[in-house]
Amino acid sequence: MRIADSIKRLGVETAFAVSAEAAAFAAEGNKVYPFHLGDVNIMTPSNIMDAAEKAMRGGKTGYCPNAGIPQLRELLADDISRSHGIDYAMENVSIQPGGKPVIGKFLLTLMNPGDEVLYPNPGFPIYESQIEFQGGRALPYGYVEGKENFKLDMDSIERQITPRTKILIFNDWQNPTGAECSPQELEKLAGLAIKHDLYVLCDEAYFDVRYEGESVSLASLPGMAERSVILYSFSKRFAMTGWRLGAAIGPRDVIDIITKLNVNGESCSNHFIQYAAMEALTGDQAQVRQMFNVFRERRDAAADILNSIEGVRCFRPNVTFYLYPNIAGAMELKGINDLDEFRRALLRETGVSVCTRQHFGRSPEGEKDFYLRLAYSGIDIQQIREGLGRFKAFVEE
Ligand code: PLP
Repeated sequence: MRIADSIKRLGVETAFAVSAEAAAFAAEGNKVYPFHLGDVNIMTPSNIMDAAEKAMRGGKTGYCPNAGIPQLRELLADDISRSHGIDYAMENVSIQPGGKPVIGKFLLTLMNPGDEVLYPNPGFPIYESQIEFQGGRALPYGYVEGKENFKLDMDSIERQITPRTKILIFNDWQNPTGAECSPQELEKLAGLAIKHDLYVLCDEAYFDVRYEGESVSLASLPGMAERSVILYSFSKRFAMTGWRLGAAIGPRDVIDIITKLNVNGESCSNHFIQYAAMEALTGDQAQVRQMFNVFRERRDAAADILNSIEGVRCFRPNVTFYLYPNIAGAMELKGINDLDEFRRALLRETGVSVCTRQHFGRSPEGEKDFYLRLAYSGIDIQQIREGLGRFKAFVEE
């Protein structure tokens, strides 16, 4: 087969390869502590499941409109208008089978081959994959360690902008670092986007995944809504990762094109699941609140143990369900200077399965990349304590 050249530029989500490795290790009879995948091991709230079943039995099993059922589009427009202070209508919302498809469709809509796209690195690996697959020029910007959390490397954004730069991909409440921008940083970023006439993809997969305070979207700042598309996801907010439902929310002309891409692809998102999503948005939130209480306990337990390990330094982000510890000291103690070798040794010796910096984009030359990413969304607190206890012993003994 003579495969198309563009396929050579298509990347993967290498966290799934870590899952496969952990599964193979478990199949050999070993205990695994799964910190690698941002999946949720808490069941979707029962009222959401009931709504899906009711819709299915009520006959919502055929095709539905390409942009999603109008009732859900309206509810989501209301929900986002309230949380973002932007006046969105149903026409600003295109329902998608997950948040992830918004990335490729947004770029197909706005990026010409050769256009430059700023994107976070470390970051969700699909940005880099889709930019390069579609013939864009990927300009990575990073995060640096601040006092209490990681901070956006604003200089690297500013420095790289040229007249060919057309798009900024921005993921506040960031995967993998757990970074969150301050109001001043958001203002600066908005200023740059407006000055250089950039379109912005605001990846808000974790907008509601927070333990204190309120999220403020870059799209909410003056002059930004008209140049921003929000990637919305039901996955993390409602423990619905496997249901596959999300949305693109933004200016009508862009949203119409994204819906046209639906016509050419999946036709529509799953019909009856959209009724479940309506229940998620409007129904009883008790089980959702309970889930976030559990996540917070897990975060605190994991961060406490990690920080007690010699040579490990870990922030305690108020957002997402990820921890991104710096393990340079621990690697030195173990006499290991290759990050992936450390990861493999950790799995082999302790069963603790993690991702590393290297699963979140190609690290620029010279970067000190000694970071692990631990997701605490898919592992219970006793297992966190046990697994990270073994991690500690692995480093210190
Ligand atoms: N964006 C970020 C930053 C993510 O971490 C993820 C999933 O892990 C997604 C988007 C996609 O989520 P989904 O397709 O499940 O909505």
